[in-house]
Amino acid sequence: MSLQNTIYQSSIFLQACRQFDRAADILGLPTGVCERTKQPRRCVVVSLPVRLDNGKVETFEGYRVQHNLSTGPAKGGIRFHEHVTLGEVAALAMWMSWKCSLVGLPYGGAKGGVIVNTHSLSKPELERLSRRYMQEIAPFIGPNVDIPAPDVGTDEQVMAWMVDTYSNHAGHYDPGVITGKPMAIGGSLGRREATGESVAWFVKAYLGDLRIKPGETTVVIQGFGNVGSEAALALEAWGAKIIGISDFTGGFHNPKGINVREAISHVAKNRTLRGYMGGNPLTNNELMELPCMVLIPAALEQVINENNAANLKCRVLAEGANGPTTNAADKIIDARGDIEVIPDVLCNSGGVIVSYFEWLQNLQSYYWSKEEVFEKLHKQLAKAKASVEDKKCQYNCSRREAALLLGISRVIEAKTKRGLFP
Ligand code: GLU
Repeated sequence: MSLQNTIYQSSIFLQACRQFDRAADILGLPTGVCERTKQPRRCVVVSLPVRLDNGKVETFEGYRVQHNLSTGPAKGGIRFHEHVTLGEVAALAMWMSWKCSLVGLPYGGAKGGVIVNTHSLSKPELERLSRRYMQEIAPFIGPNVDIPAPDVGTDEQVMAWMVDTYSNHAGHYDPGVITGKPMAIGGSLGRREATGESVAWFVKAYLGDLRIKPGETTVVIQGFGNVGSEAALALEAWGAKIIGISDFTGGFHNPKGINVREAISHVAKNRTLRGYMGGNPLTNNELMELPCMVLIPAALEQVINENNAANLKCRVLAEGANGPTTNAADKIIDARGDIEVIPDVLCNSGGVIVSYFEWLQNLQSYYWSKEEVFEKLHKQLAKAKASVEDKKCQYNCSRREAALLLGISRVIEAKTKRGLFP
C-alpha cells in the first residue's frame, strides 16, 4: 500500500517517509520490509470535552500514535500545540522509533498530541485538558506498553497531572507510566536539562573535531523553550557566545552576547520573549540567516527549507527540534558541503535517554545522583556519535542518512528475528 494514501498523509509524514526511503535505498531493503516498517502500528484519536472557566464546554481533539513496539514499550512525548495534526504526530512517532533504536534504548517509538493553543487556557483549564487526555488514552498505554513524556507545549506539571490521573485508575501510584515528572513524584535529576544538554554536548564534540574553540563559537537559537534555553545555558557555561534567540513572537540579536539567564527570567515572567530588551529585534526568518558558527533550530518542523537553506551562514547545524530540515533543504545543504549537520535523532536524543534513566529509577525505586545521570548520558551520546561516524564512512553518506540507517536497521533486525505472526 502507498503510505501517501493513509490517514497520516501530510507534508511532515511524507518528509519522514522520504528520509526513511533514502536510508532504505542505501541499505538495499526490500519494498515489503520497508512498507511494514514505516507504517505506524496503531493510533487512537480521542475527543476531549473540557469545561472552561466561563462554564462553557469546549471539545478538543487528541492523538496517540504508536509506531513500533518490536523492541519494548513505545516511547515518546505529548505535544500541545494549535497546529498539531495526526500526520505530524505519526512522523514524530516514527522519528522516536529510529532515535530510541539509534541510541540503544529498549523502546519502540510513539508520540501524542492535542490541538490546542495553550496560551489561551488558564492553569485550571490546562489541568482539566491534561487529565481528560490521559483518561482517554489510559487504556492504550502503561509502563510496559507505551510511556509518554513532555514535548512542545507540555512540561513537568502537565506530566504530574497525567501520572496522577493514570494512577487513580490503577488504584496505586504508578510512576513508570510517564517520564519528565517533577522530582517530588519520581522524576529524575537532570531530565529537565537533558535534551538541551545533549544538543550542547554534540555541538562541543563536533566543534572539537573541527578544532574550533569555545571563544570562537557564536550561537543562534531558534526556539527558546526547554530545549533552546537549556542548550543556551550549557553552551554559555562552556564559553560560547549566544548572539541570537527567538520564539514564535520574534527574535533578538546581540553581537556582544545575550545574557541567557536574564532572557530565561523574562520568559518566566511574561511567558514569551516579547518585550525582551537584551538585543535588537528581528524576525525569525532574519534570525535563521544570521552569520554564526552554530545554528540550533529548537522549536518545530520544517523551519529550514528550500527558501532559506542556501542562505544559512552557520558552520554547524545542530537540530534540537525534531524534523526541522525538509528533504529539499537537506539536498541543498548536502550539495553546499560547508555545513556539519547534527541530525535530530542524534542531537536531541538526551531527552529520551534520561527519560529511560527515569523509568529505570522508577521501576527499581532507587534514585541516582545528577553526576551519575550525566555520566551515563555522556557515555551513551559518545557511543552513538562513534557509531554514526562509522556508518557515515562505511556508506559514504550524509550524517542524517547514517543515523537513520543505523536506527532503522536495528528495528528491522528485531522485527526479522521475531518474525511475522503467521
Ligand atoms: N519529546 C522528546 C523527544 O522528542 C522526549 C521524548 C521522551 O522523553 O520520551 O525526544
